[in-house]
Amino acid sequence: MTRQLREQVVATARALHARGLTHGRTGNVSLRAGEHLLITPTGASLGSLTAEDLSEIDLRGRHLSGPPPSKEAFLHAAVLRQRPQANAVLHTHSTHAAAVSCLAGLDPANAIPPLTAYFTLRIGKLPLLPYHAPGDPALGPLVAEAAHEHHALLLANHGPVVCGPDPDTALDALEELEHTAAILLLTRGLPTTLVPSRTDPP
Ligand SMILES: [Zn+2]
Repeated sequence: MTRQLREQVVATARALHARGLTHGRTGNVSLRAGEHLLITPTGASLGSLTAEDLSEIDLRGRHLSGPPPSKEAFLHAAVLRQRPQANAVLHTHSTHAAAVSCLAGLDPANAIPPLTAYFTLRIGKLPLLPYHAPGDPALGPLVAEAAHEHHALLLANHGPVVCGPDPDTALDALEELEHTAAILLLTRGLPTTLVPSRTDPP
C-alpha cells in the first residue's frame, strides 16, 4: 500500500514538472498515508524523484523517516489537519499564479475573479494569504484557518497551495488555477465580464 502511495506521489510530482508547473527545485507534493504524510524532500527536482526519495512526516509536520522533508512541509500538514476529506496537497511557484500573487490591489478574500466556469467549478474562491518568507512557520496557522473553508489558497509573492481527495483532482484544480491566472493577466486592464455565481438570479 505504502509503495503504491509512494508511486502516486512520484507520478504527481513528475506530472507537475512535465506540465511546466514547477521549475528548478521548487514545488512539493504530499499524500496522506494513514495518520502520516508522504512528501517530497527538500531540494528535490519534481521531475527526477523516485519512490525511495520521499520523506514521511506526521500531521504536525514533524519528520519521521526518509530524507529531510521540504521546508514547506508544514503547509501540507496544516491543510490535511483541517480537511479530513482531502488526501493530496500540491504547492508550486507556477508562473502565472505566482505572477498574480505579486499584484497589488487583489481582493484578499478572492484573488482571482470568476472569469471562467471551470475556475468556479474547480477552485471557487481563492483567498490570498499575506507574504511570509519561505519556511516561516507563522504561515502555518493562517493556512490552517483558510483551509478550513477553502481547498485552494494563494500565498502572496509566492504561489498556490491546492488540495483534493486524490492527486489527480488536485492536479486538475491546480492546472485550472494556473490557466485562469494566465487569463487574468492577459485581460488585465481590459473590460471583462464574469461568470454569474450560482446564486445570482437567471
Ligand atoms: Zn513555495
